[in-house]
Amino acid sequence: MLEHRCCPRCRRPVSWGQFAFKSTIWSAWECPGCGTTLRLSKRRRVLAAVCGAAVGCAIGFAALGAGLSIWWVIPIMMTAQIPFWWLDGVVASA
Ligand SMILES: [Zn+2]
Repeated sequence: MLEHRCCPRCRRPVSWGQFAFKSTIWSAWECPGCGTTLRLSKRRRVLAAVCGAAVGCAIGFAALGAGLSIWWVIPIMMTAQIPFWWLDGVVASA
């Protein structure tokens, strides 16, 4: 279990769907277990965005350098962001 992906009050895990489709750094939602208002951790989100962008650019330049067309490079770069979702976490909103 990933500690930072659970509700900080009751330890109920936050679903993948919540992270993938319903969460932006501005959104807040209620924990179904205890009703605490949860948000994505901005610190973790920024870290994930920075790491994702760095890796995305490295892959993008490598792929362009290898002669791939931009229409291949863009989806490859987007796919490379997926592992960085692991860095996202939740915090209780004050
Ligand atoms: Zn909770």
